[in-house]
Amino acid sequence: MSLSSYEVIWKQVLDQVEQSNFFTEDTLRWIKNTTLFKIENSIAYISYRSMVTKTILNKEETKNMITSVLSEVWGSNVTIQLIQYKDMEKLMPEEEIQQRTNQLLKCTFNEEYTFENFVEGKSNQEAYAACLACCNQRGTHMFNPIMIYGNSGLGKTHLLHAIGNYLKEERPECNVFYAYSGDLVSILIDAMKSKNVHGNTVDKVKSLLVQNDYFLIDDIQNLTRESSQEIFFTVYNELISRGAQIVITSDMHPNELNGLPTRLVSRFNAGLSINIGKPEFETSKAILKKKIEGNEEACQIEEEVLDYLAQKFSNDVRNLEGSLNRLIFNATLENPDVIDINFAQRILMNEVIVNENDELTIKKIKKAVTRFYGLTYKDIEGKSRQKKLMNARHVFVYLSRELLHKAYISIGQELGNRDHTTISSSYERACQLIKNDVNFKMAVEKVQEMLEKK
Ligand code: ADP
Ligand code: MG
Repeated sequence: MSLSSYEVIWKQVLDQVEQSNFFTEDTLRWIKNTTLFKIENSIAYISYRSMVTKTILNKEETKNMITSVLSEVWGSNVTIQLIQYKDMEKLMPEEEIQQRTNQLLKCTFNEEYTFENFVEGKSNQEAYAACLACCNQRGTHMFNPIMIYGNSGLGKTHLLHAIGNYLKEERPECNVFYAYSGDLVSILIDAMKSKNVHGNTVDKVKSLLVQNDYFLIDDIQNLTRESSQEIFFTVYNELISRGAQIVITSDMHPNELNGLPTRLVSRFNAGLSINIGKPEFETSKAILKKKIEGNEEACQIEEEVLDYLAQKFSNDVRNLEGSLNRLIFNATLENPDVIDINFAQRILMNEVIVNENDELTIKKIKKAVTRFYGLTYKDIEGKSRQKKLMNARHVFVYLSRELLHKAYISIGQELGNRDHTTISSSYERACQLIKNDVNFKMAVEKVQEMLEKK
């Protein structure tokens, strides 16, 4: 039984437990913070990280519920034994630890995300060219790191994967590392625990990371934990001095990366920063055409429809592709002779159009609020009740309500799926604070100013 198979089984169990609606959201969160370590002689070893989880799992009804779901998924009866996360390593043979380490640092690339499948246009050609060039000419002083920044859905991740796919094919001798910065943080934090499940020490992870020829970090804005920034900084310097090529993406210009220390940001500025913008009309159309390439017979779409999509949805290529998929999907249901503009407009009538450049959206409000407070999306969506975070949420709720008349439910969805009652009390709290707290009132005004300047 491989380690990853246990992960699959455990995910299935947790999904079923969640769907049963047996537990409250809070309890569920604790339960989910567990792993199935192994099943041996009908004993399932489940590891927990905190005593709260242990207490919850030890409750008779919880235990019974999980035992029965697990037995069903596993295919025969098991009993559950709880072990503390940090003790798992002791139960693990050396080679398994090694296997985990390798698995952890092994990178796979999405095969669809290649240079060939990437449509070039004015808005992205510089980024495209830099990524392609670095594949054949790594680590030259001028272009290291390459930093690609721009809004979500504009092809940053696609380009990093394209580098990975290209190198795998053309230069298989190169070691390539790719990670979302959030995942990298988990790897590092895990390594910092002296007895960690993967058996990695910080030194070991560091030495593995610096051996790479290419180091691709996606969404660097999420590298917010101080302790991991520290490690990242040394790994980064070592990689540069060894002549490795570093490519980083971010959702904002390096200078605006509030959560990162200046010494890191100034390192990023030493290379080449390239903005990737939203595709112009022609590029958007070419992207759509690329998507239907080879399937023209099966899905006949009028040119006018492509124009319509390219005009309406090109703010975010993910939405652009999504709108096309939606049309094709509906065409398979209704089977029209051809997808024409009437069909398209009818199907896409209810899509939220976030295209107009100056149109204020809830996302823009969120961005402005987090920027103003120097927070990340994770912070504002998370559960911490620190005053600064609470205030940031109140400002966000207040402005979404006042400026966009958003429903509490949809504001809640933007805020880590908070309940609408929580949002409505947050709004009331904001109204109070505006009357009684000058600082809060100023914050609201400042954020509003930021939004108007945009
Ligand atoms: P980001 O990382 O910037 O948020 P992604 O790289 O995930 O964006 O891109 C979102 C989707 O749009 C992906 O499916 C990607 O393949 C597609 N995409 C973005 N830009 C292009 C492009 N220029 N040509 C083809 N597909 C693109
Ligand atoms: Mg991305």
